[in-house]
Amino acid sequence: MARYTGPVCRLCRREGIKLYLKGDRCYTKKCAIERRPYPPGMHGQARKKTTEYGLQLREKQKARRIYGVLERQFRNYFAKAERQPGITGENLLRLLERRLDNVVYRLGLASSRREARQLVTHGHFTVNGRKVNIPSYLVKVGDVIALREKSKESPRIQELMERAREKTPPAWLEYDADQAQGRVLAFPTRDQIDTPVQEHLIVELYSK
Ligand code: SF4
Repeated sequence: MARYTGPVCRLCRREGIKLYLKGDRCYTKKCAIERRPYPPGMHGQARKKTTEYGLQLREKQKARRIYGVLERQFRNYFAKAERQPGITGENLLRLLERRLDNVVYRLGLASSRREARQLVTHGHFTVNGRKVNIPSYLVKVGDVIALREKSKESPRIQELMERAREKTPPAWLEYDADQAQGRVLAFPTRDQIDTPVQEHLIVELYSK
């Protein structure tokens, strides 16, 4: 599956907020947005007028970048969200939250969604006992997401497991630190999703 491979701090600077794409570095003074809090590029510091379209576009780009999804796949999520009953914007966020890489991140077993994606791709996780190495895999209610026994020998994964003990997952997930496995209790409601995105702007953008 294709993914963005360019400089990621640039994406935060473009959106004007921390997207926490680099894991531990995001919490240090080395964070690019703390050192250069203006958009990247030659005209980054120029004053610009923001149009309604511009606002909607930025919101969509922000959501895409937070979850690490390229445009075409994001459109597919939107089309799926539109077909579901309920509020399209909320359906869209719920679909993004259900991605396996996001769930691994939410369980605290990765320092960023990017790291979670890499761990999933490298085959470190099982869903209901079967190895799944597809980051976009959509979890269902009742699914059990676990680290593979062999993977628990890796020093980095041991470090992540220790950290996960200290973290509390969102209410729609449950985490058993001794087993290093999580369970999906329910699909998240909007108030359980802390992603700083105004999803109605994305719906407006795609509804033009
Ligand atoms: Fe964004 Fe993290 Fe880079 Fe800071 S360090 S700009 S939060 S990716």
